[in-house]
Amino acid sequence: MADKRKLGVDLGGSKIEAALLGIDGTVIERIRVATPQDDYQATLNSIAALLEQLDKKHSSESLPLGIGTPGSPSTRDNLMKNCNSTCLNGQPLKDDLEKRLKRAVRLANDADCFALAEACSGAAKGANSVFGVILGTGVGGGIVINQKLLQGPSHIAGEWGHNPLALDALVDSENLKLNQLSHYQNKRPCYCGRHNCVESWLSGPALSQSDWELNKPASLRSAASIAQAAAEGEAKAQQTLKHYAEMLALALANVINTIDPEVIVLGGGLSNIDQLYEDLPSALERYVFSDEILCRIVAARQGDSAGVIGAAHLW
Ligand SMILES: [Zn+2]
Repeated sequence: MADKRKLGVDLGGSKIEAALLGIDGTVIERIRVATPQDDYQATLNSIAALLEQLDKKHSSESLPLGIGTPGSPSTRDNLMKNCNSTCLNGQPLKDDLEKRLKRAVRLANDADCFALAEACSGAAKGANSVFGVILGTGVGGGIVINQKLLQGPSHIAGEWGHNPLALDALVDSENLKLNQLSHYQNKRPCYCGRHNCVESWLSGPALSQSDWELNKPASLRSAASIAQAAAEGEAKAQQTLKHYAEMLALALANVINTIDPEVIVLGGGLSNIDQLYEDLPSALERYVFSDEILCRIVAARQGDSAGVIGAAHLW
């Protein structure tokens, strides 16, 4: 009988993690090592060593591997691109791993693995359609339909972080005075070469910049310290988070209007801001093309194990 266990690797900038899941999806074993810095061959060696360890202990050598990576393979030549671990860029990672590990490999980016993990065994378990969102240093996303990742021909499904954010469509509400603020007339450049991408207004650094422009704090505050100030009652920080929730609602309305997912799971550092979940539902009503919004918005549950669990679920 075919072995129904699942094997995943999460290749991150600071750690490489491998996990074996049982047939019910529970983690049988999870092991990790530090990622060799700027050394592609050493990275391949580390992945091979982790799998050898699992194979030896659990006889898992017949299982194919799912791997989550920071970037994705180019559709032109299958070479990796957009990896913040830059030694991966330009390398045929999937081919090299298949040769080296003598097993089939499926590869997806970390936001896709996050979405898959939350859909299969996390906050959106049981939902047939899920949009997983990462709100962190960057903004990414993945779409999961019936517990399967939607992977389009260009490998960009779910990359809403680089959709343009239509700031002039923000609706003034509850005295936010959004449209009167010159702040929103600034064009923010994005590293992708465009401007006013969702990411350039909704990433952690973007929130810091908004706080800087709106509140003129003594020094630049991190997203976490803005959230803390708001939780402690600072009106300016609370107002800045309301602005953030309004922009997030505008950005998510595009997703809801397009795929109408049952659940949207928020992950990444900014998903820990409790105020977001209070402000989002009423803000969404201003932007979604429906008189009733049944899509649930929930916080991620898998924490930093989402990457490796999602990778395992690629098979
Ligand atoms: Zn962009």
